[in-house]
Amino acid sequence: MSVAKPRRVVVIGAGITGLAATHRVVELAESHPVEVTLVEASDRFGGIIQTESIDGFVTELGPDSFITNKPAGVRLCERLGFQDSLLDTDATYRRSLVLRNGNPTEVPDGFMLLSPAKVWPILKSPIFSIVGKLRMGSEYFLPPKRLRDEELDDWDESLADFVRRRFGTEALERIVQPMVGGIYTSDPEKLSLRATMARFWDLEQEHGSLIRGLRRQNKQKKAKEAASGARYGLFTTPKNGLRSIVDALVERIRGNVNLMASTKLIKVAKGAESETYSLHLVSDGKATEVNADEVIFALPAFRAADCLDDLCSELASDLRQIEYASSAVAVTTHRLQDVQHPMDAFGLVIPKIENRRILAVSFPSRKFPNRADDGCIQLRTFIGGALQPEVLEADDSEVLQIVIEELKSIFGVMATLHSTLSRHPQSMPQYHVGHLNRIRRIRELEANLQGIHLAGNAYDGVGIPDCIASGEAAAEAAMSVAK
Ligand SMILES: Cc1cc2nc3c(=O)[nH]c(=O)nc-3n(C[C@H](O)[C@H](O)[C@H](O)COP(=O)(O)OP(=O)(O)OC[C@H]3O[C@@H](n4cnc5c(N)ncnc54)[C@H](O)[C@@H]3O)c2cc1C
Repeated sequence: MSVAKPRRVVVIGAGITGLAATHRVVELAESHPVEVTLVEASDRFGGIIQTESIDGFVTELGPDSFITNKPAGVRLCERLGFQDSLLDTDATYRRSLVLRNGNPTEVPDGFMLLSPAKVWPILKSPIFSIVGKLRMGSEYFLPPKRLRDEELDDWDESLADFVRRRFGTEALERIVQPMVGGIYTSDPEKLSLRATMARFWDLEQEHGSLIRGLRRQNKQKKAKEAASGARYGLFTTPKNGLRSIVDALVERIRGNVNLMASTKLIKVAKGAESETYSLHLVSDGKATEVNADEVIFALPAFRAADCLDDLCSELASDLRQIEYASSAVAVTTHRLQDVQHPMDAFGLVIPKIENRRILAVSFPSRKFPNRADDGCIQLRTFIGGALQPEVLEADDSEVLQIVIEELKSIFGVMATLHSTLSRHPQSMPQYHVGHLNRIRRIRELEANLQGIHLAGNAYDGVGIPDCIASGEAAAEAAMSVAK
């Protein structure tokens, strides 16, 4: 009787995507014999996720929470057994600020990234001029853009063009650019509406107006939530920070997986046996080779491109066209008595037209417990991105000095107890206009390379739940159980 040869699966990259992919392979291995290897270039797992404990307080130097309305993140935490340690955001400070002529000003209640869902808070808001408010309100009556059937698949528009078309320039410059810029660290003039905020395009098409569509949806949502008793707020994180998801994943896979840290994939070539790949790795300056039936690339697109050049130069070239932006996060702690502003919100976003040298400031200790001592506040300031890359040319101490000057000028922060800077070079993919067509082409080329799977934040979403879903889908495809 012949015994089935185990399938050799190699996952490249141990950020959240690669860890989620490896974990899913291990979950599925119960029914499929498999040998799994996880290759990571650096000496630590987690990639962009970096949680540290500073003076006993949770300090996030990369992402700090994830959205709950995309279920992959919460579901993974539930499978890892720590759903009970997922935190809800503190309702006391659940509002956001936007800088207006140097003053932190409340974002109108019900404003949903691109569009208001309520009219009255916009009318009351000091963020917009009367003309700007009238222009925004006129959205309710504007006819939707209609495309011919043959245009529907390929059509795309920049986020800036869409917002100007529906709500006018003031809405774009004063609120949408900083709010969306805060998520994608991108230039809205280049950002693809359909790759990033397709639901707003759908609202226009379905309801004729975004305001009308959001109001209807909100009514339905309220009724649904009241019936189901929704468990989490819109964002959550584990009590001890995002690192605990990384640690739990590593713990789960250890023992079932060959973990190769400090090992870099250089290139992939066709292996000697039919349908296998030969992976050229370097570890401690020494070259090694590993064979695989299935290879999951959980890397930034340009890094996957470097490894795939020999196998399919066309695919590598398309992957390289996905641009990335660099950013940095400065985490600082202050005594509240040294801050003039009450800091009674979750954070502040800053429009480009305010001409500041920082992009946004988030207030983690107003969202979650155990981020700062009583009487203190922890702040995370975002720097760089596609719109201000030049600020990152300064060295770390100069960047921290810029941050401290800006915090003083905006919030009246007079003293700093602690500061740390974490840089994230080339870490945020830019979903530019045409992104969906490029991804469609990449997926076609990937499908021609049997056993090669691409996952990560370059393709179908940049958030942690998107990365988890993408890694798990690649694992299921590798194990041939994709839906
Ligand atoms: C500053 C910042 C803040 C963010 N905040 C949030 C947030 O609050 N919420 C949210 O949902 N999302 C947030 N995001 C987005 C989210 O964190 C990322 O999209 C996600 O963590 C990316 O995970 P990944 O595993 O795909 O990539 P990465 O984390 O980049 O992991 C890739 C891994 O591959 C390794 N690698 C690279 N090349 C090779 C090679 N040749 N061989 C072997 N290994 C290699 C790298 O060392 C790395 O460990 C943020 C992103 C940034 C930059």
